[in-house]
Amino acid sequence: MSEVKAYGAQASDANLKELNIERRQITADDVQIEIEYCGVCHSDIHQVRNDWKNSKYPVVPGHEIIGRVTQVGKNVSNFKEGDLVGVGCMVDSCQECDSCKEDLEQFCEKGATLTYNSKDKHLGGHTFGGYSEQIVVDKEFVLSIPENIDAKATAPLLCAGITTYSPLRHWNVKKGDKVGVIGLGGLGHMGVKFASALGAHVVMITTSPSKSEDAKKLGADEVLVSKNEEDMKKQAGSFDFLLNTVPVGHDMNPYIALLKRDATMVLVGAIEPLDPVHGGGLIGGRKRIAGSVIGGIKETQEMLDFCGENNIVSDIEMIDIHNINEAFDRVVKSDVKYRFVIDMKSLKNKN
Ligand SMILES: [Zn+2]
Ligand SMILES: [Zn+2]
Repeated sequence: MSEVKAYGAQASDANLKELNIERRQITADDVQIEIEYCGVCHSDIHQVRNDWKNSKYPVVPGHEIIGRVTQVGKNVSNFKEGDLVGVGCMVDSCQECDSCKEDLEQFCEKGATLTYNSKDKHLGGHTFGGYSEQIVVDKEFVLSIPENIDAKATAPLLCAGITTYSPLRHWNVKKGDKVGVIGLGGLGHMGVKFASALGAHVVMITTSPSKSEDAKKLGADEVLVSKNEEDMKKQAGSFDFLLNTVPVGHDMNPYIALLKRDATMVLVGAIEPLDPVHGGGLIGGRKRIAGSVIGGIKETQEMLDFCGENNIVSDIEMIDIHNINEAFDRVVKSDVKYRFVIDMKSLKNKN
């Protein structure tokens, strides 16, 4: 084992501060990574603040990890020292169940090992995430990062990116489809970029007219303000697909009305109860509501390669680790365009 510096919280009402954690010595199948950047996901805040009632302390968050390989085990052939790599929301799974065999480790029937706050199979206790100097990860869960795009802006691809890319691919969004992206935050801004790169006609659906200009800069063809009933009526029954990134419970009925017959709205944001849905709205047009969570490792690599080919990265704001508590408060207020990324070198400096 080796002791490394990290940033974490000791209790649900505590600020994050510097602490030391243990990382395992690499096994034959492991890759050791020096972390350069880590994105700040809303889940990090939920876990630190125990919003999902399953947090184990200390919580060291971070599942949008970018770094360089420093050491590999003897069974590792696809990575070598110096490679630019990423680690997302998972660091292990059973590798044997039907979901794992179908490259859908996020649905592992025994439960995937999440990057933080999950049972650590090697050391006991729970896993620690990317707000740290270094991490050791099984080779099957390490991703290759294209060198031609800005490394720090690729960090959010590992969670926000794959969360929006996977449903667009699974529901086969293609050139000419009319796609609505609901909510312009960390997830929504990636949804717009991907849907646009796939050739769809992209409509940003937002409650705030002030976001129009930004949405168009990101690649939206149109902006639909959901509070404007008149405009919502005009677009009723016209969407092939809706990507709903709203992170909290809300009324989905107005969005269901936007779907064409047989079209689907996929939820990727709200992990909580939603307002009642009127059955008539679904029955009338054989419409569907579905959910989706991140993506498997194979698809995550496909997404990263797609980003390399199409020059897609996240829009980010860089911070030092010492500013993380302030950044959390700003994420809660949606005061970030669109993702904070921590420069992990700042962990080495005294503030
Ligand atoms: Zn996340
Ligand atoms: Zn499995």
